[in-house]
Amino acid sequence: MMTQTMIAPETLEDALAAMHAEPGSMALAGGATLVAMMNAGLVEPNSLVALRHVDTLRGTRQLDDGGIELGAMRRHRETALETPFKDGQTVLSYAASQIANPTVRNMGTLGGSIAFNDPGADYPAALVAANATILIVGATGTREVSAEAFFVDWYTTALEAGELVAGVRVPAALVGSIGHYEKLARIAGDFAVASVALQVTWSGDSIAAARIAIGGSGPTPLHLAEADDMLIGTGADSDALSKAGLLLAQAADPVDDVRASADYRRKVIPRLLAKAMREIAPAREAA
Ligand SMILES: Cc1cc2nc3c(=O)[nH]c(=O)nc-3n(C[C@H](O)[C@H](O)[C@H](O)COP(=O)(O)OP(=O)(O)OC[C@H]3O[C@@H](n4cnc5c(N)ncnc54)[C@H](O)[C@@H]3O)c2cc1C
Repeated sequence: MMTQTMIAPETLEDALAAMHAEPGSMALAGGATLVAMMNAGLVEPNSLVALRHVDTLRGTRQLDDGGIELGAMRRHRETALETPFKDGQTVLSYAASQIANPTVRNMGTLGGSIAFNDPGADYPAALVAANATILIVGATGTREVSAEAFFVDWYTTALEAGELVAGVRVPAALVGSIGHYEKLARIAGDFAVASVALQVTWSGDSIAAARIAIGGSGPTPLHLAEADDMLIGTGADSDALSKAGLLLAQAADPVDDVRASADYRRKVIPRLLAKAMREIAPAREAA
């Protein structure tokens, strides 16, 4: 069967109504993934609801409490370059800057990426490290789900049929915290073999707060409060880092695929965590 229609509504209400009017409709955001899948015959939506004219899905809103709301149609390029982020919120711009290549970053959107939830994608772990929430709209209204709860399984999210991602809310990070995203890929521009997203706050020579999320190593980003706690009060010495890294590696649920074996991914997680800590050293010294 071929896609029958494509409409491009100007309001969110009309987009939601169109999704409901035609069962089997799919939202079209940047098209970087969806159009490639249609070309390959992997999906055949009855109708496409293009979101490009829905102004309320664009833009950035600074919140009074230091948080930021990002619209679902925000392109990866904007998140990488036009940074409204402060302190540890920068984990998101680091992640966005490592997505694919300039062409894909110009096309792809925040909402499209997280709705698709490719396990090798860069935003999911960064959003979990940033403790972000996902804003979801549907026929019955709006709901807000933590990033940790939003990514449910391989290519599966908390979105129900007919719902759309409206945006993402990124809470204020601790003053002086540092954000970083460390990605291992086979070649520049590829999806992650594994990745580490971090928010770390130093107090003098020791870590006062940490939030670590692992990407590319299971169906959803991995966050363990116990691993965060292993770094707190330490100077990020190699012993503390390898204990936290090993705990995360044991809890990860990677698979063997074309990019790497599950075993390799487990081995790489502690090394990526240590590398991420080395990479943030200059930012720490400058703070
Ligand atoms: C060559 C190539 C390399 C890539 N490399 C990377 C990489 O290294 N890292 C990475 O993270 N990503 C990578 N990607 C994926 C890229 O980030 C895509 O932009 C992203 O996965 C999909 O975003 P999109 O806006 O293009 O969504 P689309 O392709 O338009 O849609 C993707 C899916 O999300 C749904 N959808 C879109 N918007 C919404 C919404 N607001 N609410 C609900 N559902 C929605 C669509 O119905 C569809 O199912 C790559 C893609 C390509 C083509």
